[in-house]
Amino acid sequence: MSETRKVHVKSFGCQMNVYDSHRMADTLAPAGYAETGDPADADLVILNTCHIREKAAEKVYSEIGRIRVLKQEAATLGRRMTIAVAGCVAQAEGAEIIRRAGAVDLVVGSQNYHRLPDLVARVEAGERVVDTEFPVDDKFDALAAPGGDAIRKRGISAFVTVQEGCDKFCTFCVVPYTRGAEVSRPVEKVAAEVERLAQAGVREVTLIGQNVNAYHGLDADGRPATLGKLLRRLSEVSGIVRLRYTTSHPRDMDDDLVAAHGDLAPLMPYVHLPVQSGSDRILAAMNRRHTRRDYLDVIARLRAARPDLAFTSDFIVGFPGETEDDFRATLSLVEEVGFATAYTFMYSPRPGTPAADMAGQVAPEQQSERLQRLQALITRQWRAFNAEFAGKTLDVLLEKPGRHPGQLVGRTPYLQTVQVIARRSLTGSVSPVTITEVGSNSLFGSLASQHSTPELAATGV
Ligand code: SF4
Repeated sequence: MSETRKVHVKSFGCQMNVYDSHRMADTLAPAGYAETGDPADADLVILNTCHIREKAAEKVYSEIGRIRVLKQEAATLGRRMTIAVAGCVAQAEGAEIIRRAGAVDLVVGSQNYHRLPDLVARVEAGERVVDTEFPVDDKFDALAAPGGDAIRKRGISAFVTVQEGCDKFCTFCVVPYTRGAEVSRPVEKVAAEVERLAQAGVREVTLIGQNVNAYHGLDADGRPATLGKLLRRLSEVSGIVRLRYTTSHPRDMDDDLVAAHGDLAPLMPYVHLPVQSGSDRILAAMNRRHTRRDYLDVIARLRAARPDLAFTSDFIVGFPGETEDDFRATLSLVEEVGFATAYTFMYSPRPGTPAADMAGQVAPEQQSERLQRLQALITRQWRAFNAEFAGKTLDVLLEKPGRHPGQLVGRTPYLQTVQVIARRSLTGSVSPVTITEVGSNSLFGSLASQHSTPELAATGV
C-alpha cells in the first residue's frame, strides 16, 4: 500500500447505522483507509443512509449534491474522491441512485459491508458498482472485529449488533424490505466481541437489533438462545458493568427476558418498548400483532420483575384511519403507563409499504395538532420523571470530560446525562452521585463518596 488513504463515513438515523459505520471503517482499515472527520479531506466518502424519516431519499440526494462539490474541488487539485451510498436508502433505491446521481461511484446495501474493500477496488479500477443483493454468507462473521485503538477512540460505551432484520411486517415500516429477515449472531461470537470490548476499556454495552428481543442466536451447544440467555452470558464478562438492549417488540418480551430484568444487576432498568398507538383498531391496521391490553400486560410483568424499571416508547400519530377517539386512546395509554420519555412521529407514507396505499390518510394539520398534544403530555411526564431524582443518589457511569474544567459527564441507569465535579481518573467508573439540580437537558450532581466503584456491578447477579 503506497500511502494511507482517508475515509469519511457520515451516518444518518439509528444506532444500527452508527454501529455499521464503525464497522465499515474497521473493515476498510486493512485496505489502508484511516478515518477522517472532514469529508473534504477524504478519498472515500460513505453516506450511511436511513430510510425511516420522511423524504429520506430526497435528503440523500441533496447530501450527495453537497459531497459532489467537494469531489469536484478535489478533482481540480488532481485528487480522486470516491462517493459511496450505503444503508437503507441504498438497499431500497439500488441502481436508481447511480442513474440519478452521476457523482456516485458505489451503492452498497446493508448486508454487504464486508465486501467493501473489494467493491472499492472495483471502483478504483473504473467500474460504477451496485451491490444490494442479500448474501447467503454471514455478514456478521465477515465484518472486521473492532480493534482496541478504534474502540478507545469511541469511548467506554459501545453498541454491539446481535440481530438484524425483521419478520413482523408492520404496515408502515420499510425495515423488513430493506434489512431482510431476522438473523441472529451466535451467543459465543457476541460474547467474544464483548470480551474484546471490555479488554479495550468499554464498560457499557448496548445490544442492538431492529427487533432485538426476537434474538435467537445459537448457544455453545448449538441450540437457539433467547435474548435473556444472551444477557445472562454477557453479565459474566469481567469489566462490563452495564448492559442494555434496543429496540424491542412487545410480542417478543418472553418470560426469560422479563426474569433477566429481576436477576441481572448489570441489566439497566430502562427499557425502550415501542407501542406506536393506544388504539386496538389502529394497532390492527398497523399489523402490530399486539393489543393495548397485551402491551399493558408486558409492562406489568416487567414492573413485577423489577419495580424501578422505567419505560420509553415510540408513537406514530395520524396513521391512516386514526380518529380523534383512537388518538385519545393513545393519550390514555401514555397516562396509564407513565413513560420516562418517548419518541413521537407524524405518520408519513413509505413507498412500497401497505399503509402508503390505505384509505383515510389524515390531513397534515390534524396530524400536527395531535402530535403537539401528545408531545406536551410526554414532556410533562419526562419533566416529572427527572424531577423525582432531585436529592437522590444514583449510580453514574462517568464517561468523559464535561462542559467545564473539573467536570465529568456521565449517565444514570436511566440514560440521563449528569454533569459531576470529579477527577478525570474516575472516567470509566460507576460512582454514586447525589443529584443537586435538575436542568432542562442535564442533571447536575456531586460525588456521594470519595470511593468510586468501578467493579460495583461487574460481578453480574
Ligand atoms: S417490528 Fe419494528 S422493524 Fe419490524 S416491521 Fe414493525 S416497526 Fe418495522
